[in-house]
Amino acid sequence: MKIFETHAHMDFPQFNKDRDDILEKCFDSGVEYMLNIGVDKRSCEASIKLAEKYEQIFVAVGFHPHDAKDFDEDLISRLAKHKKVVAIGEIGLDFFRNLSPVEVQKDAFQKQIEIALELNLPVIVHDRNAHDECLDILQKYKPQKVVFHCFSGDEIFAEKVLNMGWFISFTGSITFKNSLMENVVRMIPKDKFFIETDSPYLSPVPLRGKRNSPLNLRYIIEKIAEIKRIAPKQVAEISFNNAAKFFLPDK
Ligand SMILES: [Zn+2]
Repeated sequence: MKIFETHAHMDFPQFNKDRDDILEKCFDSGVEYMLNIGVDKRSCEASIKLAEKYEQIFVAVGFHPHDAKDFDEDLISRLAKHKKVVAIGEIGLDFFRNLSPVEVQKDAFQKQIEIALELNLPVIVHDRNAHDECLDILQKYKPQKVVFHCFSGDEIFAEKVLNMGWFISFTGSITFKNSLMENVVRMIPKDKFFIETDSPYLSPVPLRGKRNSPLNLRYIIEKIAEIKRIAPKQVAEISFNNAAKFFLPDK
């Protein structure tokens, strides 16, 4: 099974003891490409280092809404030109935790969309309890390539995202009990979704609460396969092709 992990934070300290070990296991078990996602200065630089070490790893650089208060425009503009950087992210709005003031979040989000447009890079959006506000800002700029990572909206919001020609990405949250995501998974066209773990967070059932790793992508693949009534292998292949076309168009 050929797998594209589109969102992991393998540079995080949770992996300090066994990072290389886990990555080798991932690459041996079908993960052909992995996107490591920056959230602040440290993680953007660490992600690039990882990508320089492993040819399978590519990078998104950006300041997470939690870290918007530390946003450094020059740093992101510079790092975004590195040859293994293929997207700007994760960027957006988080009104659930509000770790940066709302206006500061909006400002950092907009400036980073501008960088993405200037460099013609896709945008990876973090949207938590901020669906309408994220959509408003994005519709102002209308970037062509956008993915809502760890999608948490309903079918109506998914329609709005799809109508813009954008993408949706599913994490282990679709396996949670009482997940409202089943309807979204069911309605999403086959050419419009990616899969991701958001490791070390969001371990899928039956591993909830434990540290997550890209080795657990199979639980997400199996859940999508079950809902869409197609073979797991097909889910892996479809999402692989979608993500490769989106993030690595020159490969
Ligand atoms: Zn993330």
